[in-house]
Amino acid sequence: MSEQQTIHTAGTWRSAASGATREVLDPADATVLAVVAEGDAADTDAAVGAARAAFDSGQWPGTPVAERAALLRRTADLLQRDRERIGLLESRDAGKTLEEGRVDVDCVTDAFRYFADLVIGEGAGRVVDAGSPDIHSVVVHEPVGVCALITPWNYPLLQASWKIAPALAAGNTFVVKPSELTPLTTVALIELLVEAGLPAGVANLVTGPGDPVGARLAAHPDVDLISFTGGLTSGTKVMRAAADTVKKVALELGGKNPNVVFADACATEEGFDTAVDQALNAAFTHSGQVCSAGSRLIVEESLRERFVAELARRAEKIRIGRGADPGVECGPLVSAAQLERTRSYVASALAEGAVLRAGGEQPEGPGYFYRPTVLDRCNRRMRVVREEVFGPVLTVETFRTEDEAVTLANDTEYGLAGGVWTSDQGRARRVAGRLRHGTVWINDFHPYLPQAEWGGFGKSGIGRELGPSGLAEYRETKHVYQNLAPRPVRWFAG
Ligand code: NAD
Repeated sequence: MSEQQTIHTAGTWRSAASGATREVLDPADATVLAVVAEGDAADTDAAVGAARAAFDSGQWPGTPVAERAALLRRTADLLQRDRERIGLLESRDAGKTLEEGRVDVDCVTDAFRYFADLVIGEGAGRVVDAGSPDIHSVVVHEPVGVCALITPWNYPLLQASWKIAPALAAGNTFVVKPSELTPLTTVALIELLVEAGLPAGVANLVTGPGDPVGARLAAHPDVDLISFTGGLTSGTKVMRAAADTVKKVALELGGKNPNVVFADACATEEGFDTAVDQALNAAFTHSGQVCSAGSRLIVEESLRERFVAELARRAEKIRIGRGADPGVECGPLVSAAQLERTRSYVASALAEGAVLRAGGEQPEGPGYFYRPTVLDRCNRRMRVVREEVFGPVLTVETFRTEDEAVTLANDTEYGLAGGVWTSDQGRARRVAGRLRHGTVWINDFHPYLPQAEWGGFGKSGIGRELGPSGLAEYRETKHVYQNLAPRPVRWFAG
């Protein structure tokens, strides 16, 4: 692949049919990091055509499971070989720290290995007892077909891999469309799949904007499944666009994630230190541009002043800068638009009565930086509490009773993830059981496992990634009923 030839169809790297290009910016200083092809509907149709041909007439869907798994494992090995290069590329493209870039490569490697192991471990189908020795009945799983995979800018490599690894494990072909803001590691991943030996036409990539590329994929009659990760607004458009062709739709959307802290979790100095530390981590990792960011701190009233004072003190000390520079703990926001959005949410919160305890400003200098911000005295009626900011902004609300804590934590149209901090194990289980969120962390925040499902309740989406359900998304289920001793049924007298 040379610069600007970032569209991959039928095994060939190409420029956009129109010749259009787009500059990808380094969010740390707004300089040009790369120039990529700006695909459009024609490029999208070509990519879908290649994926369709590879599915309908190619060998991949019928390739033995062991060979498909071996390809995933080779890809995982190549990711580890190129860990430093790809981690740095992700850091520069998305603005995250280099260490986060490396962690992303490791998580993605684990996901490829997990799905390889999962398909290898499966049997050849589920035999059903049809009540007669003359009937052999089995339920089998087959690939869905051509999958369109649309991803956001905050975890470009990771989100693409959570879709690509299971799609390939199940025997599908695909077209992936990364965010136009951060396409570079998806290009790198496709290069590794090619190097690992994936047949031409199985993996296709179109770099370009949501509309027309993503919109065309969602509406395309030759696409069988669309798996989308991104914001609620685009997700609803995708669902609408997919309706006419009744394709399968999986949506991983936003979150407004509560982090509930009971005073008993902070009864010791060590407990207090851990809960404060993890509240910072929950809210400010990748400058808060995380779908599962713990952006709503819901703390027991008796603990509030001590907790927020310490939180604000530590937030002020967070070192922000270019993600790849040594010692940097938080990178920039991804774009000027994201910076403006963050600023406007903080302004609206202050106008509605929130109290600024840390941050609330853009530092001097180039790039899209914003200081980690703590807003105290927030309440559930404020926009900043209800809507996803996707920036380094932590709101603080308080509760007096366990019921009140649960009510507040569930008071969101989303339902992606939430945390609860308590030393009372009974309370931990009770609260976890009542939280209407797809992932609940008890005395922790953020970890996920490739073998455990990821996804949301409510407007956080439809379907699940990772775990056995993450593979099932990419499959059709077929019941094969075989009569070993066929006889006339004589329903009609003849
Ligand atoms: P976005 O919705 O703006 O864009 C996501 C992708 O959709 C991009 O590739 C974009 O080009 C494409 N797109 C835009 N309009 C489209 C359309 N009409 N049809 C088809 N595709 C279209 O989201 P973003 O700003 O890139 O990412 C941030 C959002 O992603 C946040 O809301 C975040 O919570 C969410 N997210 C969710 C998860 C999760 O696992 N649930 C993970 C990461 C990010």
